[in-house]
Amino acid sequence: MLKIDEIAGKVRAGERVNAGEALELYRRAPTSLLGQLADLVRARKHPDGEVTYIIDRNVNYTNVCVARCNFCAFYRPVGSADGYVLGFDEIFRKIDETIAVGGVQLLLQGGHNPDLPLAWYEDLFRAVKARYPSFKLHALSPPEVIHLSRLSQLTVPEVLGRLIAAGLDSVPGGGAEILVDRVRILLHCHGKATADEWLDVMRHAHRAGLRTTATMMYGTVETEEERLEHLLRLRALQDETGGFTAFITWSYQPDHTELAGSEATGIDYLRTLAIARIVLDNFDNLQASWVTQGGKVGQLSLAFGANDMGSVMIEENVVRAAGAAYCMDEVEIVRNIEDAGFVAKRRNMHYERLGDPIFRERNVPRMLELAVAREDGDASVPDELLNYPARSRAGKQLRVIPN
Ligand code: SF4
Repeated sequence: MLKIDEIAGKVRAGERVNAGEALELYRRAPTSLLGQLADLVRARKHPDGEVTYIIDRNVNYTNVCVARCNFCAFYRPVGSADGYVLGFDEIFRKIDETIAVGGVQLLLQGGHNPDLPLAWYEDLFRAVKARYPSFKLHALSPPEVIHLSRLSQLTVPEVLGRLIAAGLDSVPGGGAEILVDRVRILLHCHGKATADEWLDVMRHAHRAGLRTTATMMYGTVETEEERLEHLLRLRALQDETGGFTAFITWSYQPDHTELAGSEATGIDYLRTLAIARIVLDNFDNLQASWVTQGGKVGQLSLAFGANDMGSVMIEENVVRAAGAAYCMDEVEIVRNIEDAGFVAKRRNMHYERLGDPIFRERNVPRMLELAVAREDGDASVPDELLNYPARSRAGKQLRVIPN
């Protein structure tokens, strides 16, 4: 059997761990040792002691989704009275508010809505870029790109090419869950994207010159080996393309989901984050997931391999629907970073430093309340939707223009 101290010696020497060594560490190393090793890897990559964060806004443009993943509490089926699509004006208002608090991009993700064709996304991206030329669009996770590819009968590279031409700047790593097909079948997300399909969208995005992030949602039905298989598949693609900027992991949030069950513990989170920092030796940045873990575990993450606090919370609807209720504005995030002994720096999606905390430079409104995408039950149709043909029967009925 492999000895923990021999594997720890390899990590300290800067050598790569293989699957067996990683599993041994993950299963048997004391939590304090895992944290020390992950912290060593972080400090080697970020000797400046800086911890970054981004001011952006997570906008979920629609909650209508045909994928029906059983771990998701956010989606509504086609035709539901609670279904919504945001109008362009509403999205512009959200961008205005984001810019007012110093924000630089939208993280734009949503359900797989059959009534939103590729042209809707292209028109939206072009309209955003026309109004806000330097504002960034970090948009559409790989399963959404695959959905658009199926809807439009275009290949994934063609869809990406069209979206990039319209203004797409980078691709968020959502929808990865666990990149093992046994798990994806059990989570009812194999149909929206297999593990290979998810990775292939990222491969094409990287080849097209986009940078992307990678994620992992753990704590449902997967084994420890499958968590590590997920990490190793990401490491292999990063060896191939170098296109990932960061890795973010969070635990499954079970409230109001079909899958139900319980939430992983904070210790499980810290151990998972630490093993990710050790295994993903070719990733520069790991984010702390304080949205699911809370500020205190989020702060502790900085001693377990994380060097980034992610996004200042202006709006989030997906994990909130499943029970995550934590919220921090820029002042709170910076306090957590500095109290942990690090220097707080604002960044963009490429992890380039934008400066010191903005609230120290100018007065910005504090946003402590989570904004919600739409009032439940508001199924009114934004004007511009009438420009696009609906595919579902419910969508066609909604789009009948009254005389
Ligand atoms: S996780 Fe995404 S793809 Fe799956 S049901 Fe929810 S909104 Fe749809």
